Amino acid sequence: MTQYPQLHMMIDGEKVSGGGRRTFAVVNPATGETLGELPLADAADLDRALETARRGFRIWRDSTPHQRAAVLQGAARLMMERQEELARVATMEEGKPLAESRIEVLMNVGLFNFYAGEVFRLYGRSLVRPTGMRSTIVHEPVGVVAAFSPWNFPLGNPGRKLGAPIAAGCAVIMKSAEETPASALGVLQCLYDAGLPREVAQAVFGVPDEVSRHLLASPIVRKLSFTGSTVVGKHLAKLCAEDMKRTTMELGGHGPVLLFDDVDVDRVLDTMVPGKYRNAGQVCVSPTRFIVQDAVFEKFRAGFAERASAIKVGNGLADGTQMGPMANPRRPDAMERLIGDAKAKGATLHTGGTRVGNAGFFYAPSVLSEIPLDAQIMNEEPFGPVALINRYTSEEAMIEEANRLPYGLAAYAWTQDGKRQQRLAREIESGMVGINSTMIGGADSPFGGVKWSGHGSEDGPEGVLACMVTKAVHEG
Ligand code: NAD
Repeated sequence: MTQYPQLHMMIDGEKVSGGGRRTFAVVNPATGETLGELPLADAADLDRALETARRGFRIWRDSTPHQRAAVLQGAARLMMERQEELARVATMEEGKPLAESRIEVLMNVGLFNFYAGEVFRLYGRSLVRPTGMRSTIVHEPVGVVAAFSPWNFPLGNPGRKLGAPIAAGCAVIMKSAEETPASALGVLQCLYDAGLPREVAQAVFGVPDEVSRHLLASPIVRKLSFTGSTVVGKHLAKLCAEDMKRTTMELGGHGPVLLFDDVDVDRVLDTMVPGKYRNAGQVCVSPTRFIVQDAVFEKFRAGFAERASAIKVGNGLADGTQMGPMANPRRPDAMERLIGDAKAKGATLHTGGTRVGNAGFFYAPSVLSEIPLDAQIMNEEPFGPVALINRYTSEEAMIEEANRLPYGLAAYAWTQDGKRQQRLAREIESGMVGINSTMIGGADSPFGGVKWSGHGSEDGPEGVLACMVTKAVHEG
């Protein structure tokens, strides 16, 4: 039995809690029970974290690639050793099936090992100049990074937020979601245990708007890396503009899936149904709007609904669970609102559309079709276990629907036609496009969106470069 750990912040190498600070109750979404009380930062805590980060940056910017690689590799090894414990805590906090939490550990291990290699490849260049002159272009760590991560990948999001700045030689103040603090602290502890000086990475929690206003008002912070909703991202980007801080914004999406009539429908269902209901649909790259060509529409819709209704919903810690609860009570409320609105506007519900059980925040895997484009759910990210399936005829109309929304994070397309694959790859406005595949990421591949889905990349060489600034040095 995994014990849920004592909660605290990590500031200046110290576990900080108590002292009359406000607290936040962390709840298990499968049961509604309180797991622990999380201390929330006051202004003095945040000032202390800022001063520590200033010191941490001076230490870490001068670290050698060997030191950075040793920390990243060591933390990867420790995460692997602690995989089961980390995964169980993540499932207790967020609800997803244990198998999905274990995969988050593997994602972090892959990313940290990739970055451990990447630290040796942070090359600059020298320019051609006459004898006696030298011009060099170098990349330097940007400075202190504020990193705000959400609850949907309790281990994976903190891994991304910590890995890139540490590889680049920055210091980080992380505020991960208050709903999933122990998972984030577990990842941070692996870095400490692998030798990361504690000044280099700290963890604070608090009232999100208070923390972000305080940290982003400080000139000590030079960059914000944020993952969350577009509305909050826009608000934070404005705060950053006041001080010209750099930003990486990984925001919402509304993943279109274009399905043409030359595909094997059963094979697509084998991939897309588990993809849709992974983490109860609370994934920014979740496939959401299924844009399906006439000839395969009926078979796809019927097959999707049949498979969705067979998904085993339950506590993520229980054997055989295929989909857990939603992560917090806001999400089933949002499902009720969005599905209710779609039905009222004429959409057909094929399965789901209800809460499940009396405890926790469960919502049934749902399928809607013939949804009018003015339904809220066709315009607002549902972030839940619902597939939206509509019928189309021409490739042109399908691409137009894929690009209709201001979002552009992940898009998927299924077709055997090679020329069409090339047209889709070019025409779809999206940071990531999966053609005949849902594998749209990897440690070595940039992850990020366009339009309202944000800017900048995480992962890949781009993820480290996003934590660096360019300097040109000209010597005569
Ligand atoms: P939310 O927008 O209130 O919060 C999203 C995240 O941002 C949370 O981690 C929260 O702590 C943080 N946040 C909120 N206000 C903040 C502020 N002023 N300063 C700093 N951080 C702040 O919404 P929510 O109810 O937690 O989630 C709902 C929506 O958020 C979803 O519908 C989805 O669009 C989006 N979301 C996106 C991702 C993603 O991976 N891109 C992850 C989680 C949530």
